[in-house]
Amino acid sequence: MKRIAILGAAESGIGTAILAQKQGWDVFVSDMGTIKEHYKQQLDSHHIMWEEGGHTEERILRADTVVKSPGIPDTAPVVKKLIEQGTPILSELEFAHPYSHGKTICITGSNGKTTTTSLIYYIMKQWGADVGLAGNIGHSYALQVAEGDHDWYVLEISSFQLDNMFQFRADIAVLMNITPDHLDRYEFKLQNYVDSKMRILQNQTPQDAFIYWRQDEHIDAELQKRAEGYRPQPTPSSLPAQPGNPTLMPFEDNDFERLGLIFSQMGQHNKRNALAAYQATQKAGVPEDIIRQCLKDFPGVEHRLERVEEKGGVLFINDSKATNVDACYVALQAMDRPTILIVGGRDKGNDYSVLHDIIRKKCVGLVYLGADNEKLHQSFDALGLPIRDTHSMKDCVDACIDMAKEGDVVLLSPCCASFDLFHNMEDRGEQFKSCVRAHNI
Ligand code: ADP
Repeated sequence: MKRIAILGAAESGIGTAILAQKQGWDVFVSDMGTIKEHYKQQLDSHHIMWEEGGHTEERILRADTVVKSPGIPDTAPVVKKLIEQGTPILSELEFAHPYSHGKTICITGSNGKTTTTSLIYYIMKQWGADVGLAGNIGHSYALQVAEGDHDWYVLEISSFQLDNMFQFRADIAVLMNITPDHLDRYEFKLQNYVDSKMRILQNQTPQDAFIYWRQDEHIDAELQKRAEGYRPQPTPSSLPAQPGNPTLMPFEDNDFERLGLIFSQMGQHNKRNALAAYQATQKAGVPEDIIRQCLKDFPGVEHRLERVEEKGGVLFINDSKATNVDACYVALQAMDRPTILIVGGRDKGNDYSVLHDIIRKKCVGLVYLGADNEKLHQSFDALGLPIRDTHSMKDCVDACIDMAKEGDVVLLSPCCASFDLFHNMEDRGEQFKSCVRAHNI
């Protein structure tokens, strides 16, 4: 019996374990931390061996194949040893793909993955396709394959997952954009991160589609290099990527107006997300009229430029997912009313000066929300806008309501991580929405 060790016992690890057992593998699951109770129950009900609070290296090093959670870096001691002895280390998607009959639409990029993935899934569902949603979103791909499989999967794929995908081939690949991110996992070399993102088109044939934003400075250059025979350097646990030879389906910003599309979500960046979804679902065979109707009806994704409600002529927008400066920038670009911006949280070494011009153009007030607002004062006070300093969501919403005039927008797009005052970005967005709803203006 072939042995598989699974490192990391969360959504993807548990799904992989159940699929592997069904396919006749000897399965062992190991997690450095504590495994959630409902995952333990799932493992126990399938009689799968597991451990938590550490890795029994001797057992893991005996495995023929290892599936690693994307959160575990190549520098983890047990991973280093596996790399040294040449054990194949796969991602969940790589492992499960051969066991599925379903076609895949795979979305990656630095920004816009979740919105585009959710939109494509929504369109496929409305069309009536038998479709699963997985990858970084929804339920485990491997578990869905194990529990009956689907004809189609819409997969949100991060660069960390791509690093451990070798034979995988996307029927339809979508690459939204490439901007520097997660460089700590890529030896601080942008090229390594770019190579990782470009793996989305590995193994593709002319029957497969590669949909991408033509105006991205990195993607076009990379396609050119690959046409000339460029072979990327693999990261430690990956293997060299096959270049892929797909049918190229680029889109560019003015296609949105040229095609006369209408999209329910605001902002230029969302037009790109709509164009990517339009191309991908067309390629999948969805009729044009269904796609156009779905773009109009798409309810959006929580915490991403989400309209909370309009009260006393003031519109409240929750963009709690904006945890970096780029995301806040595109959110401000999308505003067409005088804006009171809520910023703050745990700073990740942000350079706020790139926001100065757009804040001058769009904002009528700033509300700081964080445990420590000192850097915000240093960065923004000199712009001369009305400022409020707050340390809880309730005080923050009170301050916004106090400042706002009829016709204004209050935008929570904080540029920062949420962990100083909140459990996570979802908690921050939920608290914002409930404080807004509780208020009588
Ligand atoms: P991801 O899953 O890649 O993080 P999301 O769809 O969750 O992407 O969007 C995260 C944030 O990124 C949004 O709040 C928005 O500000 C910004 N964003 C979304 N789509 C794009 C895009 N196509 N280009 C640039 N920024 C985008």
